[in-house]
Amino acid sequence: MSLLSNITHLIIDMDGVLYLGDQPMPRLGEFFAFLRQRPIPFILATNNSTRSPQEYVNKLKRMGVTVSADEILVSGQATARYLARQYPRGTRVHVFGMPALREAMTDEGFVLVDKDVELVVASMDREVNFEKLKQATLLIRSGARFIATNLDPTNPSEEGLIPGTGAMIVALEAASGVKATAIGKPEPTMYQLAMEMMGARPETTAALGDRADTDILGGKRAGLTTICVLSGSSNRAEAEAFEADLIFDDIAQLLDAWLQA
Ligand SMILES: [Mg+2]
Repeated sequence: MSLLSNITHLIIDMDGVLYLGDQPMPRLGEFFAFLRQRPIPFILATNNSTRSPQEYVNKLKRMGVTVSADEILVSGQATARYLARQYPRGTRVHVFGMPALREAMTDEGFVLVDKDVELVVASMDREVNFEKLKQATLLIRSGARFIATNLDPTNPSEEGLIPGTGAMIVALEAASGVKATAIGKPEPTMYQLAMEMMGARPETTAALGDRADTDILGGKRAGLTTICVLSGSSNRAEAEAFEADLIFDDIAQLLDAWLQA
């Protein structure tokens, strides 16, 4: 297991890796104790943009794990930081999504408005309705650049796979006739931003995730070692099809392998 012993930094997906819904994975606390003790600095990076970093801090706290907000990168933040490098402060943006995404955009100096906008930034909206779809569609049709935080069609939950951001995006793409530019995994952008946050290099950084077509593909595009766990979205055949470097049933099995590496 020399691949594991070479890893100094880790970028970890959350849903399906650390927990399913509100159910923590076995030995979650032990896994984080191991990372702290080594130490292996990490960023928890998720395509899910419906929660703020602080909400993830609180969620993990309830599971007995202490992390800080600056160890978390959500796709809404990644999208806002990426766009802030291309557009001046005060750029007018329409947001289709949850309050956490609105907050991420205003934190980077964007002005949220509903007309004469340069950008439409879209993500999961758990209160989606016809008026919201119509408004975003008309803005994209009148020339606003269409950005999506991510394109995951589904999210894992205790009840099974439920609609994800991608399900909203395809509706807007169909209505507007425009393909969205996506920022989240499998684009390498989130992984690159996470490495910047840690001062990490791709040769010694690993991407740990449960979804082969986002976490693993994105990790490969960013030049990272990739670790797929089978406790969430993807099965072994999918993990192998995307050529994950390492495959484990869950973080408990990964922990055992790492302790012996
Ligand atoms: Mg996941």
